[in-house]
Amino acid sequence: MDTLADDEYWMRHALILAQRAWDEGEVPVGAVLVQGGKVIGEGWNRPIGQHDPTAHAEMMALRQGGRVLQNYRLLDTTLYITLEPCIMCAGAMVHSRISRLVYGAADAKTGAAGSLVDILRHPGMNHQVAITSGVLAEACSTLLSDFFRMRRQQQKAARAAGNA
Ligand SMILES: [Zn+2]
Repeated sequence: MDTLADDEYWMRHALILAQRAWDEGEVPVGAVLVQGGKVIGEGWNRPIGQHDPTAHAEMMALRQGGRVLQNYRLLDTTLYITLEPCIMCAGAMVHSRISRLVYGAADAKTGAAGSLVDILRHPGMNHQVAITSGVLAEACSTLLSDFFRMRRQQQKAARAAGNA
């Protein structure tokens, strides 16, 4: 079993990847897939740049994990994400058979790991994923709120420039 210190260590890794999304102008969400203390997948949110509605951080991490393991089943892995996954990504986690999900900030609007719906612990699901939530939640949610504040300010500045 991973300790809280391990979880925080990997969540900091995911936060660095989230920053990469920010640097590319994407909503800052990062994900890292770990097996036996080793990184086998990394991802950061990039749907805009990739013109791909499925290019969420955790989808990228799962895809890379599959390539590394040469297997579409990602057994005995833990996925760390800075933000609670959406329905699509939670579905992909069930398909991939990850063992455990650790996420930072909850997402009241679209979270599919308990906030809006709970795909991963639905009693009818044939695969159950253990969930730990709220790891470095403050840092994860601050990154997101800082990003959206920055974007609102940019939009306001652009509007002001347009009216000048
Ligand atoms: Zn998603």
